[in-house]
Amino acid sequence: MNTEKPRICIVGGGFGGLYTALRLDSLPWQLDTKPEITIIDKSDRFLFSPLLYELITEELQTWEIAPPFAEILSHTSILFRQNRVTEINLEDQQVVLDGAESLSYDYLVIAAGGKTPLDIVPGAKTHAIPFKSLNDAYQVKEKLRLLEESKPEKIRVAIVGGGYSGVEIACKISDRLGAKGRIRIIDRGGEVLKTASKFNRETALKALEKRQIWLDLETEVTKVQSDTISLSYKGTIDTIPVDLVIWTVGNQVSSLTQKLPLDKTEAGLLKIKPTLEVLNHDRVYALGDIVESKDATDKILPATAQVAFQQSDYCAWNIWASINHKPQLPFRYQPLGEMMTLGIDNAVLSGLGLQLNGPLAYIARRLIYLYRLPNLQHQLTVGFSWITQPLIELLS
Ligand SMILES: Cc1cc2nc3c(=O)[nH]c(=O)nc-3n(C[C@H](O)[C@H](O)[C@H](O)COP(=O)(O)OP(=O)(O)OC[C@H]3O[C@@H](n4cnc5c(N)ncnc54)[C@H](O)[C@@H]3O)c2cc1C
Repeated sequence: MNTEKPRICIVGGGFGGLYTALRLDSLPWQLDTKPEITIIDKSDRFLFSPLLYELITEELQTWEIAPPFAEILSHTSILFRQNRVTEINLEDQQVVLDGAESLSYDYLVIAAGGKTPLDIVPGAKTHAIPFKSLNDAYQVKEKLRLLEESKPEKIRVAIVGGGYSGVEIACKISDRLGAKGRIRIIDRGGEVLKTASKFNRETALKALEKRQIWLDLETEVTKVQSDTISLSYKGTIDTIPVDLVIWTVGNQVSSLTQKLPLDKTEAGLLKIKPTLEVLNHDRVYALGDIVESKDATDKILPATAQVAFQQSDYCAWNIWASINHKPQLPFRYQPLGEMMTLGIDNAVLSGLGLQLNGPLAYIARRLIYLYRLPNLQHQLTVGFSWITQPLIELLS
């Protein structure tokens, strides 16, 4: 190592990167070993994506679900650089930023997350909107606002993908549009929510049915145009009118990760050791949506915030252990269950022996996510707003 103070560079301040940094900052350090921790993110805000749907219905505001890094890190010694990482030079231990400046590191954490691939179907890149970032949510919201203003008749929304995101966004948009909404979910599989628990899937199906959300199963999207979507069902292609297409399927690693000369799976995910280090490079860790995550029995885990969050604890601990010449720990995943929002003030959750739906699940989901928000100050401000907002609305 070059300096007394180890320099830890964290690429990406999402669930994997930000929580690794916060955990690292809170671990016990000797004065001379306390590292210099830098997070680099292209955005100025951390996004708590499980609550992104609530922006569409205006149940929540941006400041609640996407606090600025400057605010989250203000009471820590973590440094933040808002910039896009264009290259990582593993031999020289340098992270290159947009604008050619580079940062040297002793330890590197790669947590750049995934993106939704839109270039699989003609027209999707131009006419469909993914639902992953704040910008995507703003685009969907603005499109809905324009449609609500300009179309007195039905508003037709096609949601590609019947996974968690597809079902959750469908229920939220349906509740926002009310009787005006004509919503369909398109999925190439024979059922929606294939990986969900039985209780969650059955509750979600009832929520979809209640809202008259149409399911196009065993159906492939073949083309998207400005006002139509073409669907292939059992060999027959049908082109139907549509006002808004939302694309929720697929997870592709970023081009930054694609370029890295590291061992990857066929899908391009980084292969990692149980300690979360990448193969053949000491002191380089990777976690979250860009890696092939496995539990203790080698079972592949889904790309979720729950996995990235739990990995961040191990990643921070293992970097601490490496700096302090202690043994590193293998990642052990603890499945804690799953939660979904199913429209305004409604949710479902199952896990740890508990099954809840309706308003009770809605409150439990909110409280669990409040506890997961990045720091105590933000938790308190948001919690206070969640308590006082309904009272203000009641009195006004
Ligand atoms: C709408 C939605 C709802 C979801 N709901 C749930 C849920 O209910 N439960 C659950 O467990 N999971 C959920 N997920 C999945 C979860 O959000 C991801 O699995 C999780 O965010 C992965 O964490 P990560 O750190 O790998 O990536 P991210 O959290 O995506 O963070 C990656 C960060 O890297 C930054 N970045 C990327 N490239 C660069 C670059 N070149 N230079 C600088 N910065 C860069 C990005 O700006 C971003 O901040 C949801 C996802 C979405 C989109």
